[in-house]
Amino acid sequence: MIEGRIYNFSAGPSILPEPVLLRAQKELLNCGGSGMSVLEMSHRSKVFDDIINAAEENLRKIMGIPDNYKVLFLQGGASGVFASLPMNLGNKTGIADYIVSGNFSGAALKEAKKYLKDAREAATTKSENFSRIPKQEELQLTPDADYVHVCWNNTIFGTVYHYIPETGNVPLVADMSSSILSEPVDVSKFGMIYAGVQKNLAPAGLAIVIVREDLIGNAMPITPKIWDYALNAEKRSMINTPPCFPIYFVKLVTDYLMEQGGLEEMKRRNEEKAAILYDYLDSQDFYKAAAAKEDRSLMNVTFRTGDEALDAEFVKGQAAHGFSNLKGHRLVGGMRASIYNAMPKEGVEALVAYMKEFAAAH
Ligand SMILES: *Cc1c(COP(=O)(O)O)cnc(C)c1O
Repeated sequence: MIEGRIYNFSAGPSILPEPVLLRAQKELLNCGGSGMSVLEMSHRSKVFDDIINAAEENLRKIMGIPDNYKVLFLQGGASGVFASLPMNLGNKTGIADYIVSGNFSGAALKEAKKYLKDAREAATTKSENFSRIPKQEELQLTPDADYVHVCWNNTIFGTVYHYIPETGNVPLVADMSSSILSEPVDVSKFGMIYAGVQKNLAPAGLAIVIVREDLIGNAMPITPKIWDYALNAEKRSMINTPPCFPIYFVKLVTDYLMEQGGLEEMKRRNEEKAAILYDYLDSQDFYKAAAAKEDRSLMNVTFRTGDEALDAEFVKGQAAHGFSNLKGHRLVGGMRASIYNAMPKEGVEALVAYMKEFAAAH
C-alpha cells in the first residue's frame, strides 16, 4: 500500500487498484498524446473514441461476451438501468417477474410497477431480513413473462446467488453491480447483465449494460431517448455526452485485470480473501455472520457481535487501525467489510487481526 492510504472497506464508491490510480494520475495532464486530460476532451475526438472502443473490447475479452450481445455505457447508475429496463424489455406481454432478495431488487420492482402492466414479486426472503437467496423451488415464475429480474450480489446483506435460476425461455436479467468482474460469468445464460460501476470497476457516474441484441428494439414509446437501449447500441452510447471519465477508468481497470490474469485469477484471489474472514467467523462465537452460509458473498462480508454498543465500539476503533467504512448498512446493522477486487489480501488479514484483538479485549 502507498504511504498515507488506508484499507478502505467501503461498499461503494469503493477502493480502486493503486496501479490504476497511478496510471490515471500520470496520464491526467496529457492523455494519449492529446496534450489534454480525458476530463477536458471532446467525446467525439479520436483519442476518446479509442478509449471507449478499448473499454468495450476489454470487457468483451475479459468476460467472454458473445457477439450477439451489445455493450452499452449509460448514465444514471444501476438505478437508472432498473428504471429503464421495464420500458426497454417489458413491452411484449407487459409482465415481468422480480425475485426480491434485498433492497435493490425491491427498488427495481417498485420502478417496474410504474411502467409494466404486471410487475410481479416471484419470491422474497424479506421475512428473514434477506439473510439468504430464494431457492429455485420457491420461485413462482410466469411462463410468458418478458423477463425475470434478479439482484446477483446483495451488497447490503452480503448474499450472492450460487446457482443460476432456471427460467425456461424467459430471459434472465441480473443486476451485478457489486460482483461484476469478481469472477467468471457465463454471459450466454443471461438476457441482460447490468452494473453501476462504482463498486468493483470505476468511479461513480456510469452503468454498464450487456444485453442480447434480439431483446432490444421494442422500447415503449414513452422511453426517454437517452435510455433507449437500441438507440444507444446504434449510437455507440453517445446519443449525448457520455460519462467520459468513468469510461476511461473501465479501460484502465480492465487493462489491469487482464495483466493480473483475468477473472479466473480474480476469483482465486477473492475466494482466498473471503475465506480468511469466513473461516475466522466460523471458528469463534464472539461475532456472528449475518448471511446464510450457503449464500455468502465473496464481495461483501456482513457480521455483528449481537450487541449494538459493542458493534459501535468496533466501528469506532477502525480509524486507529488504518481502516474505514466498516459500519454495516442500517438495514442489517453490525459491520460490513466490502472486499472488492482491489482490496489486497493484507487488508483482510489486518482486519481479522483487529477482530481477534477486539474480541479478546471484550
Ligand atoms: C449500489 C447498488 C445499486 C445502486 O447503484 P446506483 O448506481 O447508485 O444506482 C443497485 N444494485 C446493487 C446491487 C448495488 O450494489
